[in-house]
Amino acid sequence: MSNASQRERDTTAVGASAEDARGGFLRAEGISRTYRLGRVDVPVLRRADLSVRRGEFAAIMGKSGSGKSTLLHVLGALDEPQEGQVFVNGEPVYAPKERRSFRARALDVLSVHERRRNRLRRDTFGFVFQFYHLLPELTVFENVLVTEMVRTGVLRWPTARSGARRRVSAELERVGLSHRLAHRPSELSGGERQRVAIARALVHRPSVLLADEPTGNLDATSGAAILAIFQALHAEGQTIVMVTHDATVAACADRVLHLDDGQLAAK
Ligand code: ADP
Ligand code: MG
Repeated sequence: MSNASQRERDTTAVGASAEDARGGFLRAEGISRTYRLGRVDVPVLRRADLSVRRGEFAAIMGKSGSGKSTLLHVLGALDEPQEGQVFVNGEPVYAPKERRSFRARALDVLSVHERRRNRLRRDTFGFVFQFYHLLPELTVFENVLVTEMVRTGVLRWPTARSGARRRVSAELERVGLSHRLAHRPSELSGGERQRVAIARALVHRPSVLLADEPTGNLDATSGAAILAIFQALHAEGQTIVMVTHDATVAACADRVLHLDDGQLAAK
């Protein structure tokens, strides 16, 4: 089965029940995130709302420091907001805040909420960052394989390994890096490194690909190659949320939202 039809099949398999009643596959409601610097509160997100349909390619623009990375981390179960909730396929990402005792919060480390959040972070989302975050001592192949190893866990790895190796090869082929499997990141161009990061983000077939300035560190040609990969993924049904400060990059998406003063709006 080709990569494309495999992806399509996976998307539909999870898909039918997918959009929840209020309309978004990935939905953020009333998100507030404030950083505390010494004694000063720095509000970054102020009751921000967002709704992304399954299969949609959404771009979020905003100037540097406007909170784009913060928003993406909140969306992807990496950073809990002080207020608001994120839903994926109707499922809340964070533990409910209201009416929780101190004890309940203390026990949260082991709670169903915490386990669900870990599962979502691990299985539902794939992340691509501006600076790749590859492990320098590992080869291209190993950089992608190691995430599958962590995801699978040591006990299941012996039986899962050969399937994982096949998926890693297929994903690296799709980003055009089959001839670089044994190279280390330091031997690759920026564009090639980002393609490894994309393969790593996709190898577990995430429902949502979250990309934080994925072309921000690349020259125009390498950046265009990354966007071409995103558009091909989008054509196959992949849901993508991409953050950028570059209007030309954002123009590749179905819909562009602007993050301004801690809120999102179409312009
Ligand atoms: P963007 O990605 O749009 O450039 P960020 O989400 O990284 O913006 O940051 C938004 C604001 O929050 C910035 O003013 C930044 O300095 C501040 N900020 C980000 N992370 C932290 C942190 N861990 N602690 C304190 N302030 C932070
Ligand atoms: Mg950022």
